[in-house]
Order: sequence, then structure tokens, then C-alpha cells
Amino acid sequence: MERLKELKTDIYRCIHCKACLFAYSGEPSRKGVGEHKGTFGKEGVLYEGMLRSCPAQIEYGWEAYSNAGKVWIARAVLEGEIELDENVAEVIYPCITCGLCEEQCENDVRTVDIIEALRAAVLEAGVPARDKHDLVDGITKKEDNPYGGKKVDRMNWVEEAGIDPKILNKKDAKIAYFVGCTAAYRQKNIAGATVKLLQKVGLDITVLTEEVCCGSPFFRVGKTETAKRLMNDNLALFSNYDMVLFSCAGCYRTLTIDYPKWTGEKNTFKTMHAMELIANLVSEGKIEFKEHKDLVGKTVTYHDPCHTGRHFAEHFKHELIAESDNLFMDKRKLNKKVEDWFEVPRTIIRALPGITFNEMYRIKQDSFCCGAGGGVRAQYPEFSLNTASRRLDEAEAVKADIMLTECPFCWRNLSDANDRDNHGIPVYGILELIDTYDLIKGAKATPKKK
Ligand code: SF4
Ligand code: SF4
Repeated sequence: MERLKELKTDIYRCIHCKACLFAYSGEPSRKGVGEHKGTFGKEGVLYEGMLRSCPAQIEYGWEAYSNAGKVWIARAVLEGEIELDENVAEVIYPCITCGLCEEQCENDVRTVDIIEALRAAVLEAGVPARDKHDLVDGITKKEDNPYGGKKVDRMNWVEEAGIDPKILNKKDAKIAYFVGCTAAYRQKNIAGATVKLLQKVGLDITVLTEEVCCGSPFFRVGKTETAKRLMNDNLALFSNYDMVLFSCAGCYRTLTIDYPKWTGEKNTFKTMHAMELIANLVSEGKIEFKEHKDLVGKTVTYHDPCHTGRHFAEHFKHELIAESDNLFMDKRKLNKKVEDWFEVPRTIIRALPGITFNEMYRIKQDSFCCGAGGGVRAQYPEFSLNTASRRLDEAEAVKADIMLTECPFCWRNLSDANDRDNHGIPVYGILELIDTYDLIKGAKATPKKK
């Protein structure tokens, strides 16, 4: 309840206008808008003007499942008008914490923070956790990851990918790669591809065998004590490094945004997504790509993961609100910073020769979620996959042959939905695509620190 009380100003700033239920589809004048019905959403007109945007509200229909409903519930809880009980839990958990609502809100209400705080308050009040969340919590307490893989097997992918095991726990390295549980135990191809690429550009990195789950799933579902324990273990482990690199959007968000929020202090290390580093090298002309015959003529599209996309855009905004003396003027700088931020993956994609890049209608801050986050994939698999399938419909509408992303969790969910509903659009991580098709023609590395 403490965190919910801390967010009181945000909660009372909500005027219940419900603007956060809708988002504008990027380019309504584009040819073909509204024509594509989709493999999954056969009945719906998908891309015309102002669209229903909250994945939870689309799936469940009732306002209580939307952010406007949840913030109103938070307010009623603070007012003592309703109890934190199972009825509240039922509507606040099927939410991906995607932050699309936060992006739409003109009153700068920190909706994701409120939803997470509401979940923590519900558990504190004695309402049982969702069963799958409890299951994952139990597994993680034992093995330090939510997948149940053995702790000692966390870095098995190094050998499996043919990477020299000397990379493990290197004493002299200043840069560590935070692998994350999904890439370590499930999408090992992404971990292998990331390290190979970083090595190819000449970066001296290490991987730490004692790394534990970043805690993201537990921050999201209100299991704050588990999340803090994992956070403290990682902070102790990584504090000797100058920089920590990531390939997972969720881990990156958690170490960069959540850790300082919960410790009240800046991290002692810089954080950077591997994508930023590669994009810098591309911009500086230090990496060149070559064609691959299997990719020539293909059309790719890009899915912005919520955790590396708008969660950072919102983070930049709230940092600015806290620091600025002249918000009106500074917002221009913010807009530029956000614009540059979303260009990072696009800089790499546009540099890939022989490939056409078609953007979907809803992109960047207004991007529709993949459906995996916020504890939803574990607890509400159908809602999760339906959301991913709605996103793949959007990729179909721009005639994409391949969907790219930069998060193993998005990759997993979108790939599963692609298989379930036969969209025929394979999903790749950008770095994975580069590694799989051996697309680097030449590289000279002098990577910049953030
Ligand atoms: S969170 Fe913002 S957009 Fe949503 S109902 Fe409240 S004030 Fe309106
Ligand atoms: S975070 Fe996403 S799923 Fe949750 S209420 Fe907001 S828009 Fe809906």
C-alpha cells in the first residue's frame, strides 16, 4: 500500500477522460489503411484513425480491465470506498503493463507504476497471488530463473554456441553482457548471436555465471520482495563493471529504470542495449552489411518491444518533469531524444542491403504490444497469444515476409502466435538475423560508452 500512497498525486491527476483507451493509427492517409482484415481479426477494420488500443480492453470488453478503470479503482482504494479483494485482482492482472495507456495520457499519469503498485497492494492485503505467478515465484526462489532450468546450467548456451568459455567471469573485462533468463534457457540463439556479434566488432566482454533473473516478472506482478532480492544479488555482482550490455528488452528496462527506482540511487554502471552499440557503429560507418540471397527482395517490418520502446520514452519524460525549470521549452529536446531513441533499431534495419523495410501502421510510442509481459503470458496464455496475433495481422497488412524485434520474450510470443494462427511471418531478433545470415561485411570497433 505504501507505493500506492506514494503515487497518490498521479492517481488523483486522472480525470477519467478515457483517452487512454484509444491511440491514433500512425498514418491514416496511407494507401490500404482499413482494407486488411487480418488472419486473426477477420471481422475488424484494423487501421483507420483513432483505434481502440488497450489490449486488455479489446480482449475483455469491460472498462474495468482498461487503465481508466484500474486508476479509478486505485483512487477508490485510497478513498476507502472499496476493499482490495479478489474482484479487484480479477481485473487488474489481465494487463500486459504495456504502457500504451501511459503514452496516450495527456495528464502524464504514471499508469504502469500505478498498476504495479495496485497489484502489490492486493497481495499485501492477503488476496492469493495468481496460481502461475506463485508457481514461477517458487521456481525462481529455488533456481534464480522463472523457467526452472538449473542454476548451474544458466550459461550452457556458451558452449552450445561454440563460444570460447574463457568469456565466463573474465577478471579484466570492463563490460559485462547481461544474458537474461529467456535467452539463457529458452531463446539461446539470441544469446549466442549477441555475443558473436559483439566479439566480431572487437568488444572485450564477459558473461557472469552468477547472474540471476533481473526480477522483471516480479516487479510487474507485485511480488516486490522476490524482485528486490534478485535486484540486490545482481547489483552486488555487476557493481565492478563500467557497463552492462543487454539483448533483452525486459532486463534492460528493469536494470535501467526499476533498479534506481527501488534503491533510490543511481546504478554504479552504465547500461546499454546491444542494439544501441551496433547502431552507433553503423552510423559511424564502422559496420557494413552485405546481402544474402535468401533475404534479397524480402520485406521486413519491425515490432517495437514496449520495454525498450515507450517505457524508455516515458522514463525520459518523467526524468524531464522532475528536473526541468521550463518544461515547455525542454519538451522540444525531449521530442528529439525520443525520436532518436526509436531510430536505433531502424538505423540497423535500413542499413541491411537487399531488404525492403515497411513500417506497420502503429509504431514507436503507439506500437501495439506483443502480449507477453506483465505476467500475462504465464497466467492468461490465450489473451497473450491473441494479442500477439493481432500484432501479426498488422504485419500482414504491410505485406511483411519477416517480422523483426529486439526482445527474446516478444520473439517467443509472436513466434508462438505465428505458429498457432498460420500468419506465415517468421520472427527474428535483429542481431539474430544478422548472425543467422552472416550479414556483416566488415567491422571496425571503437564502441562508444553511453
Ligand atoms: S489515465 Fe489519463 S487518459 Fe486515462 S482516464 Fe486518466 S486522465 Fe484520462
Ligand atoms: S498497460 Fe496496456 S494492457 Fe494494461 S491497461 Fe494500459 S494499455 Fe491496457
